[in-house]
Amino acid sequence: MRRLLIAGNWKMHLDLRGAIVLASELKRELGEVDDRDLAVFPPFPFIADVADTLSGTAIEVGAQNLHPEPEGAFTGEVSGAMLASVGCQWVIVGHSERRNQFGESDEFLNAKLRAALGAGLKPILCVGEHLAEREAGEAEAVVRRQLEADLAGLSAEQFARVTIAYEPVWAIGTGRTATPAQANEMQGAIRRLLAERFGSGPAEQCRILYGGSVKPANARALLAEPEIDGALVGGASLKAADFCAIARG
Ligand code: PEP
Repeated sequence: MRRLLIAGNWKMHLDLRGAIVLASELKRELGEVDDRDLAVFPPFPFIADVADTLSGTAIEVGAQNLHPEPEGAFTGEVSGAMLASVGCQWVIVGHSERRNQFGESDEFLNAKLRAALGAGLKPILCVGEHLAEREAGEAEAVVRRQLEADLAGLSAEQFARVTIAYEPVWAIGTGRTATPAQANEMQGAIRRLLAERFGSGPAEQCRILYGGSVKPANARALLAEPEIDGALVGGASLKAADFCAIARG
């Protein structure tokens, strides 16, 4: 049985004080949640303080991005080892905002994934199609291409530490959510693809999250689907009450 993971991507929001206030509210409200895993992804400068605030709780902390190299002349970038050293356990790789606004290629994301694993972080690999691709009937082919390229060369042992997030681009920050059936169908297809590549046991164990305008009003129906093993929550993760409602189920 796969445990649900509810993850909050704070994106480029809040200031230090706001991040600590939000983390403190989550600490207070979600202390007794023990039937699902919880993680938050603050902006880089707030990670250490948020990790401090949440220490002693079951809420884990992650980063929204990393650079594939361990160190060097990469102005403005942050390595996996640096993230681990400030209390990160997780890292998001390949969010559509990175793919689309920063031109991150699948080859680059494959290198990031390896770097994250090498640094002992648990990566959440995001995949998903654009609206035009869905309307053209290409959604599954697009996601297949992303997964094959992003996971290329990974061993079964490495894959066992990867979480996938299916995030249709047309549902992110738009208020438009995939229906539970749409999300479940694609996530089933993703699991079949993972089984082809890594075998049915590892594919069955892999958590596949859904992301795209998850809110308290739609979370329960999405999470009830058999192929949906959690949620990657953007906008609603910035409101303690909303994130807590989604996290408690
Ligand atoms: C996200 O950023 O991964 C996301 C799903 O955002 P939102 O929930 O705001 O659509």
